Amino acid sequence: MSTARTTIDFERSGKQVGFVDIPHSPHEDAWGATRIPLAVIKNAKGPTIILQAGNHGDEYEGPITLGELIRELDPGMISGRIIFLPAVNLPAVLAGRRTSPVDGLNLNRTFPGNPGGTITQQISAYVSDVIMPIGDAYVDLHSGGSSLNILPSAIIEPASDPELRKQNVEAVLAFDAPLTVVIDNLGEPRTSTATSVRAGLVTVGTEMAGAGTVSIDALDICRRGVRNVLAHFGVLPPAGQKPGARRENILRIPGHDGYVLATSDGVFEPLHRLGAAVRAGEAAGRIHNLGDPGRTPETLFYAADGIVYGQRQPGRVVAGNCCVTVAARYEGDLQ
Ligand code: CA
Repeated sequence: MSTARTTIDFERSGKQVGFVDIPHSPHEDAWGATRIPLAVIKNAKGPTIILQAGNHGDEYEGPITLGELIRELDPGMISGRIIFLPAVNLPAVLAGRRTSPVDGLNLNRTFPGNPGGTITQQISAYVSDVIMPIGDAYVDLHSGGSSLNILPSAIIEPASDPELRKQNVEAVLAFDAPLTVVIDNLGEPRTSTATSVRAGLVTVGTEMAGAGTVSIDALDICRRGVRNVLAHFGVLPPAGQKPGARRENILRIPGHDGYVLATSDGVFEPLHRLGAAVRAGEAAGRIHNLGDPGRTPETLFYAADGIVYGQRQPGRVVAGNCCVTVAARYEGDLQ
């Protein structure tokens, strides 16, 4: 049973900006709470769109975009309801870290959560048990975070139901990012978007640059994309211009072959820039051992044809780190 509490009334028309308080009892504060920002704007008839960011605390385009929308949108501008969770893993957001400093967990590997678990598990349980059941669509805004720089893209979470798959593709194309990519995180079921698809919500993800910075270009794409998605669902008026994103250009990360992992410790030197076309078997980069300059650097190889979609930041790596990610052409059925 959840002990979370909010003063926000999800059924009330107008704009409410507040928090959901999750009781937390650490050494410094016996009877206090972790306050997760929560806002609702509701007006007239229309669908409920959940806009979430700060799932990882070191990805900033999403939280900035949602903060702006909370401040700029008035109820009279919309038809329907928008539920904002702009800093959903608040402890991680305030720490500027992917994972929570409270319990060490990655929120996006805890869904559907546990209302009797740690703080991070309680947050995912609140989203799964309270927010998702009242939503029609769910948008989770990610960037690459501290360890990756990713080409700005809108993300399709695969759905086994053909009708939901079709609606997901249409909504993600409506975001109109420069790239549209199918990512299933190797079939990982514990992500927010996998969970929202299982709950039957139309689902949109993003990857907006990264490297733990704020990208001017990605922020611009994110701002326009979220408004495009709201217009797609009729919550905002039509955007006025046709999207440039095309079904035939959709890419995917081709499973394990899409990830080039470090095979030893050292400094990774990439051989291609983001967006470069590469082939399976081609050298992707070298790992230099700076303390032993007589030793030949170790070469890493691509395992798939495609484009360089994501690159590791910073240069230091240990064995197993993801150095490069390749996105390949999508050849499955997305109709
Ligand atoms: Ca992320």
